[in-house]
This record gives sequence, C-alpha cells and structure tokens, in this order.
Amino acid sequence: MSQVSPKVGFVSLGCPKALVDSERILTQLKVEGYEIVPSYGAADAVVVNTCGFIDAAVQESLDAIGEALHENGKVIVTGCLGKRSELIREAYPDVLAITGPQDYASVMQAVHAALPPKRNPLLDIIPDTGVKLTPKHYAYLKISEGCNHRCSFCIIPSMRGDLVSRPVDEVLLEAERLVKGGVKELLVISQDTSAYGVDVKYAERQWRDKSYRTRMTELCEGLSELGVWTRLHYVYPYPHVDEVMPLMAEGKILPYLDIPFQHASPRILKLMKRPGNIDKTLERIRNWRKVVPDLTIRSTFIVGFPGETDAEFEELLDFLREAELDRVGAFAYSPVDGAKANELPGAVSEELKEDRLEQFMAVQAEISAAKLQRKIGRTMKVLVDEAGANGAVARSAADAPEIDGVVHIANGQLLKAGQFVDVVIEDADEHDLHARLAG
Ligand code: SF4
Repeated sequence: MSQVSPKVGFVSLGCPKALVDSERILTQLKVEGYEIVPSYGAADAVVVNTCGFIDAAVQESLDAIGEALHENGKVIVTGCLGKRSELIREAYPDVLAITGPQDYASVMQAVHAALPPKRNPLLDIIPDTGVKLTPKHYAYLKISEGCNHRCSFCIIPSMRGDLVSRPVDEVLLEAERLVKGGVKELLVISQDTSAYGVDVKYAERQWRDKSYRTRMTELCEGLSELGVWTRLHYVYPYPHVDEVMPLMAEGKILPYLDIPFQHASPRILKLMKRPGNIDKTLERIRNWRKVVPDLTIRSTFIVGFPGETDAEFEELLDFLREAELDRVGAFAYSPVDGAKANELPGAVSEELKEDRLEQFMAVQAEISAAKLQRKIGRTMKVLVDEAGANGAVARSAADAPEIDGVVHIANGQLLKAGQFVDVVIEDADEHDLHARLAG
C-alpha cells in the first residue's frame, strides 16, 4: 500500500452553518488519510463548499468554482448552491460532482471516485474533536438543520428542508468533546434556535445521568454544566425565550442574544412572513433587561423591502431608537432567485434603498457608539483571540467572533489565545473597546 496521501484543497464559503459542514467533511477526509493542503497547486483535487443564500453569495461561489477549475481542474462542489446544480453545470460543465448541503456521504463518494484513499484508515489516529476551521478556543455547535418557516425573502427551507433537530444528548456530547479539546466558547447555531426540538416533540434524552428535553432552555442548562462560554445565535422572540433570562442572570450562559428581527413594522413583517410576534417586542426587551441589565442584543434588518413606505421605514428607525440594540447589521433588500417576495408589488428603487440603508446605519452607529462609551471605566472578563508584539485582541461577552467588535488590550503581549482575563476598559470607538489588563 502506498504511503503517499492524496491531497485535497478545500474552499469554504458562506455562513457559520456552512463552516460546520466544512469541518465535518474535513474531519472525515483526515480520518480517511487525505492530506488537506492550502493551495490549488499542491492539491490533487479541490472541494468547494458553496453558499447560495443571496445573489452575491451565489456569484462568489461560482467565482470560487471557476478559480478552482482554472487552477486545479478537479473540482467537487458541495453546500447550498449544490441544490441548484443546473446553474453550476451550465457555467462549469467540467466539475466532477455536485452535492447539496449536509450531504457528507455524497461528498466523500465523489472524493473517493476522484482520489481513492491510499492509507488504511484504521492505522490513522482519529482526531478526538474533529477538525475545526475556527480557532481552537471557540467552536460552532449546530443543533439542527433546516427550518419550518417560510419567510418570503428566503430560500433556505427550499434548499435545506424542514427543521430536523439533533437529539439533545448528541449535541451535549459533542459540546463535551469540544470542551475537552480546549474549546472555551460554544456558539449555538441553527436556522431557528428557539424552535429547537419542535420536530421531535422535545424528546427527552439522558446525558451525564440526567434527563434533558430536546429544547432550547434545557440545552442551555446542559451546556452551562461545561463551564465555558455559551452564546446563542439565531433566536426568534418566542415567549419561551424569557426562560433563558434567569440562566443569563446567573452567569450560566452569556448575556447575549442574536435575534434577526429584520423589521419593526407589523405590516412589513407580515409580508416577510416572519416568525414571532413583534407587537410586544419592545416591552419584552425591557423586561429582559430588567432581569439581565447587561444583555447584549445583536440583530439584522432589511431595509427597502417591497412596499416599504416612508412611514414604515420611520417606524423601523423609531424601533431602533427605542430598543437600543447593541450590534446591528443591515442590508438593502435584494431579490433572491426563487423567493416568494419577488412577486410582491411596490419594489423600492435602488436609490431609495441605499438612502434608507445609509440613514438606518447612521442612527444605529450613534446608538452602538454611545453604548460602547458607557463601558469605559468598567472591569470585564474577556477571552483572548490572539496576542503579539502590539498587544492582544480579545472579546467580551458582548462580542461574538467574526461579526461583532473586539477588545484591544494594549499591554496584552504575553497573553495566549483561549485565555480568560479581566481588563479595565479605557476607551471606545465606534465598534471596538480599548483596554488594559486589570490589577
Ligand atoms: S426563519 Fe425565515 S429567514 Fe430564517 S431560515 Fe427560516 S425561512 Fe429563512
């Protein structure tokens, strides 16, 4: 048997959810004796994990496939865009295989066909915690696939299907393994974290001699046993979100909620077919903050949705001012091929969309900056992401990796990635905090 490992190049595009898929495929490749190489030239074949969420992502994915074909020639496509294979075939008839999201078996089959494994997998050391593309001290924990909603601007359910929740014991075991492998922060992701377990009727499972239901609150309770940071993403404002507030108040999970509100006008939300009830949202945010004064809320919004009037846009700005969200991302609405919203009347002109986006961002920038200013003088615990000659870069409970701000520690040269330290905040700019080690 030859000892030369076949070499695979890997390109991972898209959201954190796609990243989790990439990590699983990479783990499997490693287990089977493939070597992962960082350049097209050194690879015997390339796997491209694509994204198909918005048109810009589709183009980025197609460009990546084209580049890999040009540079290497042997390309296997997987991920969300794989669901639209005709689009890929039309542009690149030479790709070796096209598979959809979470279809690990088909990706591996395609890799085997292109590059038969050379080593006996049983002789290889199977990595305990999987291969992580994210730095070692934080990891995404995917709790479900698919989504039961049908938001009119989104094609994820048609690509990924209805909600399928992973059993809670399986998720807790994976989290336990990750923590044993050095992970200090778990980022819970899914399409709709609050809906976790609905499809399995919140089935009860055993973990560490205790019974847990496959449900968001119980999952959080289990994760809190692991003694690391747990951060919740993609939570919808269903009533039971109130249940996690006490866990946040007790420091069991991070006081952080990523809730994609998308809009604040009830009429637009109805047109968007969004889950959750916006009517009481402001009141609920106020109540959450009574229980968890330090709660950080991150959200995303779409401006210029078809039919959005000036008054409805103003309603959105008023909501922003009232809700005082900490971190906000916003997009000008852009039609997605195959989405129902494309049939709605009243398209907003590109110019007006851009104008509204600018206004929206200006209002939010002021709010975010003012909230960061209020942190000056406080001592807080942060998790170090990297350190070097210029100091360290860390994140507080309020900062999710890759999407929020960071905390710069001027005298953090000797710190190590994955270390928790206390810092005193000395300054703030629009996005980030500047600090020194406490004590
Ligand atoms: S909740 Fe809506 S936007 Fe999110 S994945 Fe489901 S359908 Fe798409």
